[in-house]
Amino acid sequence: MIPAETKAVATKGFAIDGPEAKFEPFEFTRREVGPNDVLIDIAYCGICHSDIHQARAEWAPSIPSAYPMVPGHEIVGRISQIGADVTKFAVGDFAGIGCFVDSCRECAACTGGVEQYCMKRCAMTYNGTEMDRTTPTYGGYSNKYVIDEDYALKVNAAGDLSGVAPLLCAGITTYSPLKRWEAGPGKKVAVAGLGGLGHMGVKIAAAMGAEVTVLSTSPSKEADAKKLGAKGFLNTKDADAVTAAAGSFDIILDTISANHDYNSYLNLLGLNGVMVVVGVPTEPVALNALSLILGNKVLAGSMIGGISETQEMLDFCAAHNIVSDVEVITPDRIEEAYDRTVKSDVRYRFVIDMQGN
Ligand code: NAP
Ligand code: ZN
Ligand code: ZN
Repeated sequence: MIPAETKAVATKGFAIDGPEAKFEPFEFTRREVGPNDVLIDIAYCGICHSDIHQARAEWAPSIPSAYPMVPGHEIVGRISQIGADVTKFAVGDFAGIGCFVDSCRECAACTGGVEQYCMKRCAMTYNGTEMDRTTPTYGGYSNKYVIDEDYALKVNAAGDLSGVAPLLCAGITTYSPLKRWEAGPGKKVAVAGLGGLGHMGVKIAAAMGAEVTVLSTSPSKEADAKKLGAKGFLNTKDADAVTAAAGSFDIILDTISANHDYNSYLNLLGLNGVMVVVGVPTEPVALNALSLILGNKVLAGSMIGGISETQEMLDFCAAHNIVSDVEVITPDRIEEAYDRTVKSDVRYRFVIDMQGN
């Protein structure tokens, strides 16, 4: 008979041990597969800029970084084991994991389908703890994940699975606010920052029927922006072009990862326009009240999306043949990918192949 303690799932990952450290192989165990759990053999994990912010402790002290850290919350793979009470998945199914793996299931946010805003704080996929507030969570830069089936997503694997991984964060983080602020036919949507989130925002907003413009600091990305579905491209380093574009947009989806002046972007909104911030710069921003008052404008924020909306986004992307444009790397290239992402030198998401791990 196998002793109970060997039922914990042996897992191989890649961890960083401090903001200045390098990624190293890291072996750990995940919990035994419980009655409602599924075991996912991870195929691919995207590299989100949030991984970089947290690995390098750039959000501390607001969001502290706990080490060793195994980042990764854009996870896709195949189910290799299911618990006795699992109904949503079978062994062999493709599945995904996004930014959180559990929540209290009782608060208004959880019962309202926006578990990401759980009032008791949901269990983040990494750099967090299980709902017991004690057991650390390790993310998708690893070969296995054990998760309650209610927090796993069904993945349509008809297309390229590596391109599906970034939908689990970049996809839902752009889909949710675009839907909420009603991007669609007749709406002029600007996507600020053409990186991992931004390129998904362009594809999704275009698929929703909006007229899309990219606001970018990288003129070299103009041709790509058009191929992704944008009609317009504004080089935000060109002061004259920015002045000329004042009042042009109904919605700005701000995905910029670095510190920037919100006032100059708000100036690009027309009457009743909305700028929804999803990018998380490290410093507070000085806001001129007149940037909002003149033109009756809204400055909003948005964090990922709930489980049912994430499933809706995956189904929307499958129906519109939308996947992420990815550069697949092996785990020994994580640092290089981080450095290139910070330099805006990624077309448009790095994804780690975990199969050889
Ligand atoms: P990313 O791939 O690095 O893209 C960020 C883009 O921002 C860059 O490609 C660049 O686009 C632009 N940018 C960079 N530095 C800039 C600067 N100094 N001024 C103006 N623009 C600049 O990052 P990502 O993975 O898409 O993530 C973007 C941000 O969203 C990060 O802060 C991340 O933590 C955050 N995030 C938030 C949520 C949420 O739920 N709210 C979820 C996921 C990620 P151009 O080259 O086109 O200028
Ligand atoms: Zn992310
Ligand atoms: Zn809750």
